[in-house]
Amino acid sequence: MLVTLIGRVRFWRFIESLIHIVMVGVLLVAVALVYTDRSTTVYELALVSSFAILLASWYLVGMTIRKDLAQAMNQIEYKTRQEFDSLYERSPIAYLTIDMKGNVLRANPASAHTFSDTLTDIISRNFFDFIDIERVENNDSILRGKVAAGLTVTDLELPVTTIKGEARWVLVNVFATRHPDERLISVTDVTDQRAVDTAKSEFVALATHQLRTPIAAIRWNVELLMRSMRESKTEKQDRYLVKINRNVLRMLNLINDFLSVSQLEMGTYTAERESVNFAEYLGGIMEEFEEKVTTKQLAVSLVIEPENFNVAIDRRLFHIISSNLLSNAVKYTPEGGTVNVSARANGGTLYYSVADTGIGIPKSEQENLFKKFFRASNAQQKVTEGTGLGLFVVKQSVEILGGTLTLESEENKGTTFHVELPNIVK
Ligand code: ADP
Repeated sequence: MLVTLIGRVRFWRFIESLIHIVMVGVLLVAVALVYTDRSTTVYELALVSSFAILLASWYLVGMTIRKDLAQAMNQIEYKTRQEFDSLYERSPIAYLTIDMKGNVLRANPASAHTFSDTLTDIISRNFFDFIDIERVENNDSILRGKVAAGLTVTDLELPVTTIKGEARWVLVNVFATRHPDERLISVTDVTDQRAVDTAKSEFVALATHQLRTPIAAIRWNVELLMRSMRESKTEKQDRYLVKINRNVLRMLNLINDFLSVSQLEMGTYTAERESVNFAEYLGGIMEEFEEKVTTKQLAVSLVIEPENFNVAIDRRLFHIISSNLLSNAVKYTPEGGTVNVSARANGGTLYYSVADTGIGIPKSEQENLFKKFFRASNAQQKVTEGTGLGLFVVKQSVEILGGTLTLESEENKGTTFHVELPNIVK
């Protein structure tokens, strides 16, 4: 509606200017006729004047319409402003208006509830001072940069300390406003939600940890049974034992996934770096997949550049990263396909990638890939086994190591995951 009105006002302004020019032109012609050509008749002068009068009246009508439109526009703007102000004041969500340096210019009553008792306390503050720098994962400079650049920030979870000294977690969104030097911030308190999530993660961690011991015992005993019955077992017994073994392994993998997720989510995982020879270490991880690679007749290549270098790495985290990426490449590549693994050390950074010629990931679903329990539609159809937790854990592990994880993928062509880990090559 507003856009249409603005369009109409612009149109009338254009018409007005046009009429202006034509009118002046016509009047000049009339004057020129009178002074230069004495034979000009009264009839001709009347014709020119009436044309000028017609244009003038058209001009006046246009001006009135334009004035009406501008008035209507002002009214709409006023109403919108009123609605916005009322939303701002009454919303249960905390809203703060800040300048580009983070100084709070205005705040709504809900923000008093989140950060302190009174609004005046907040207005004299800088928003960034509320952020608890010690608990924030990637420090607050990215947020500061985005605010200063006028970029939108969506659903950023931040630890804050209120004016009363309480530690809370908030979900922050930053929007541009009509004023180029101001930003609007919405703040939702998610402290309770996080506490519930932590309690859930703690329970899962405890339960899976307790389950691991009896399952490991079952696995060990099945292997013993298989070995002791090697000569005597019938074909049927062998089939049963193989099935039990496979399912115990699946259960163990699931439990390990759950355990990693809960530990990473709780933030209780502390990375411990130790120096390892990268080629040897990666070779060991790749051996875990030999059986599946052989069964599916996949061509696997490994390129390490340079051949020999050491990395200071948390063994478990890197195992999570590489084994999940490799296991997915093997799982989602049909028989006879290719898996190429490459690792390159350059200036302290390790560039690690796993590429396959598998089923790929539909473009429209790629943005959800690192979310917990997400499985792409084609994977669900073609490979029934999977939890959708692997990539979530990979992403968290890469982030704990200060790195980045990206992917390139095309459906039915293949997928490449790129991991970049800075400051680990020694
Ligand atoms: P899952 O247990 O389902 O393999 P992941 O978290 O490891 O869970 O992966 C999430 C989803 O990402 C998979 O279900 C699949 O849709 C997609 N995916 C991951 N790796 C690949 C790959 N190499 N090729 C095709 N799809 C993949």
